Amino acid sequence: KDEVLRKPDWLKIKLNTNENYTGLKKMMREQNLHTVCEEARCPNIHECWAVRRTATFMILGDVCTRACRFCAVKTGLPTELDLKEPERVADSVVTMNLKHVVVTAVARDDLKDGGAAVFAETVRAIRRKNPFTTIEVLPSDMGGVYENLQTLMEAKPDILNHNIETVKRLTPRIRARATYERSLEFLRRSKEVQPDVPTKSSIMIGLGETKEEIIEAMDDLRANQVDILTIGQYLQPTKKHLKVVKYYHPDEFSELKEIALQKGFSHCEAGPLVRSSYHADEQVNEAAKH
Ligand code: SF4
Ligand code: SF4
Repeated sequence: KDEVLRKPDWLKIKLNTNENYTGLKKMMREQNLHTVCEEARCPNIHECWAVRRTATFMILGDVCTRACRFCAVKTGLPTELDLKEPERVADSVVTMNLKHVVVTAVARDDLKDGGAAVFAETVRAIRRKNPFTTIEVLPSDMGGVYENLQTLMEAKPDILNHNIETVKRLTPRIRARATYERSLEFLRRSKEVQPDVPTKSSIMIGLGETKEEIIEAMDDLRANQVDILTIGQYLQPTKKHLKVVKYYHPDEFSELKEIALQKGFSHCEAGPLVRSSYHADEQVNEAAKH
């Protein structure tokens, strides 16, 4: 019988159950908006929404055309394109009084432009209504089509984030519809469109990678001019998803962070609960200094 690893103590966090986001959650439903914070039941929601004033919106619907084996987002045929979504996201950023917003999207391989036009319009709409909010975009590889990346980067987000998610060897198994090289190229070409916009990427560890492979991923990201790195523990969202192979100790995360900084990343967040958008507000300021 398959063995299931026991969760170590540092991952048994108490959720702030008495925190009340009823108002905001109701607004999300009324506006037909989706956040990763809610969908992924992210443990950092209190810190992010209430203290740091940051949130991660997921646009272009809540159904993805891909089915990565670590991800809890629904898979299937997406709904039609919602052209009013950019304004509603921008209004919600006002209501939530966000200092930093992350905009991500499901992969829309059904659309010719991968959703790039609506994505770019969302950045512009947020900027118009919230000139002081920093904006981070977290797209899929949008089909690996350079023009789509160009469309998005022309809207001038403050950070381009694109996750390689795992080391080279495990990519085919974990992100079947993406490739490691294509993601690296995507990050590199973003700098060709907007040399001044910092780039960022994330990996989840605990999927069976070795330390050497993690370091190789760092080198590959640096070779493609990536500025910011986040490293977090993979957690299995449901029994149908990939099993956790290893729970890394917080000290191992600290060591990886040290290595990343030596490799020349301007900022690295590494820890068991670190998510792609965790402490993203700090990273903009850090990156701006470099
Ligand atoms: Fe949302 Fe990201 Fe914060 Fe989690 S870490 S609550 S997903 S912004
Ligand atoms: Fe999840 Fe993104 Fe993969 Fe879609 S492309 S399944 S949203 S990780």
